[in-house]
Amino acid sequence: MALHMSSLFLRTLREDPADAEVPSHRLLVRAGYVRRVSPGVYTWLPLGLRVLRNVERIVREEMDAIGAQELLFPALLPKEPFEATGRWTEYGDNIFRLQDRKGADHLLGPTHEEMFTLAVKDLFSSYKDLPLSIYQIQTKFRDEARPRAGVLRGREFVMKDSYSFDVDAAGLDKSYQLHREAYVRIFDRLGFHYVIVEAMAGAMGGSKSEEFLATAEVGEDTYVHCTSCGYAANVEAVRVPAPSPVGWDGVPAAHAEDTPDTPTIETLVAHLNERFPREDRPWAAGDTLKNVVVMLVHPDGTREPLAIGVPGDREVDEKRLGAQVEPAEVEAFTETDFAANPALVKGYIGPGALGLEGTSGIRYLLDPRVAEGTRWVTGANVAGQHVIDLVAGRDFTADGTIEAAEVRPGDPCPSCDHTLSAARGIEMGHVFQLGTKYAEALDLKVLDQNGKLVTVVMGSYGVGVSRAVACVVEGNHDESGIIWPRELAPADVHIVAAGKDDALFVKAEEIARELEAQGLKVLVDDRKGVSPGVKFKDSELIGIPTILVIGRGLAGGTVEIKDRRSGERREVAVDDVVPALV
Ligand code: ATP
Ligand code: MG
Ligand code: MG
Ligand code: MG
Repeated sequence: MALHMSSLFLRTLREDPADAEVPSHRLLVRAGYVRRVSPGVYTWLPLGLRVLRNVERIVREEMDAIGAQELLFPALLPKEPFEATGRWTEYGDNIFRLQDRKGADHLLGPTHEEMFTLAVKDLFSSYKDLPLSIYQIQTKFRDEARPRAGVLRGREFVMKDSYSFDVDAAGLDKSYQLHREAYVRIFDRLGFHYVIVEAMAGAMGGSKSEEFLATAEVGEDTYVHCTSCGYAANVEAVRVPAPSPVGWDGVPAAHAEDTPDTPTIETLVAHLNERFPREDRPWAAGDTLKNVVVMLVHPDGTREPLAIGVPGDREVDEKRLGAQVEPAEVEAFTETDFAANPALVKGYIGPGALGLEGTSGIRYLLDPRVAEGTRWVTGANVAGQHVIDLVAGRDFTADGTIEAAEVRPGDPCPSCDHTLSAARGIEMGHVFQLGTKYAEALDLKVLDQNGKLVTVVMGSYGVGVSRAVACVVEGNHDESGIIWPRELAPADVHIVAAGKDDALFVKAEEIARELEAQGLKVLVDDRKGVSPGVKFKDSELIGIPTILVIGRGLAGGTVEIKDRRSGERREVAVDDVVPALV
């Protein structure tokens, strides 16, 4: 049955909502697709739900096409599996936690690696059961520090997450490739411009990882790309190869130096002044470390970096370095050291040491695990390039490999001799080789061909389904409203009865019925006492691809077909209109 504007649960708004900073947020609220309930929490109204379901359908079709099987996990999850992998602690403030009536801890799932791993462990036990790819389209919960831009960054949102299970790395490569190709098809169908960039692993750990970023100025991710060879990477992930010979773990020899000092704040500052003098003034306690990486050298010769992160962004550091820190220790440090030093910023936690940087000083508190005789070394960032804020995870990794200087447009491409450009994007999808991290933590093993138990190798793959709705609007709108790509539109044809004459309304219903009989979805603006001007404005705002105006021309036997995207209008004989539209 066609939808009717006279009865549709919808109110369009003339004014932009006060809290909307980006076009998709403004338009989705004004056109009556979503309504805000609380920060980052939205209701999908009838038209919005249709679009969301269309995105889901595309995602589902492409997942099914690679043989992935759909299932559905609960969103309400027990704590224990997340404790086993350390994520109960690692996630920090980013998950919603709750207790049942007996006081047992639960969480609302932010992502489901643990649950999928356990389900496979529950049901499968042999290599013959693999490979397996399973997925769900489900509501996720993350207590985002900065929910923003409507459904673009929600605290409750819809994600498609799939997980692949293979007996070995070669199998994982295949599953990963299949997902990657499915994602290309999904994002091609969704109808916005995107790039595939190398990504870093983040909280999940693992090896190869790529992101699908919708190119958009309003995006929160910055990526670099090379117009010559096609190389593209999230700036978080850029790898600048270290010039050889390498001194230690990727730091160019020329810039690496061992010192016999004991790592204290004073010796560190003295060393920095001697070895890496600043142009403007000497290093002092209170400076942010720039252009320099500090490593600890344990008595047994192993090296670990002191982590330097983004002030106040504890999530960032835990995400990037947390994998190597015992969660219990993170908590211990947080409670004791941070409480005693309110000026210190949380989150400068690196393996082997705790580096704290506050507004009032760089301090290095040593982890009790750091044994006597531990030394530290410093190294300039990649080939001595100047870095603005050195960020753990972006500028160097926990294993000591310096990954990137801050990349600016004009810097050399790591894959060819061209220069890089920078741009912004919205993360729409993420494909991820998890390896054995989760399978090990939760003991997921199968018997291989020789009857030997082997740890299963996993991948995880996410698509932001609700985010996609906003992303499509970012890429498909003009000043009058939304312009839906056909596959996503809440209807195919928007019929506007423009005038007062009853005959217009009768004809609108008749054409709507015929179009629906041909399989098209129709929205009829059958409101009486609403001017044609208002109806036209609403039709542009709502953004259905074809607008059919039944107005004055009807007396002479014609109606007008308008293409929302091109704005092109054409008169057609009323009797020809159905064939013209199907
Ligand atoms: P972001 O970097 O934007 O915070 P993420 O890397 O934390 O995203 P993943 O854990 O990779 O997200 O989740 C898979 C997909 O889920 C993302 O690629 C994105 O499209 C979507 N997504 C993640 N967080 C949100 C959110 N808060 N609101 C809507 N969609 C989200
Ligand atoms: Mg995130
Ligand atoms: Mg991300
Ligand atoms: Mg991601």
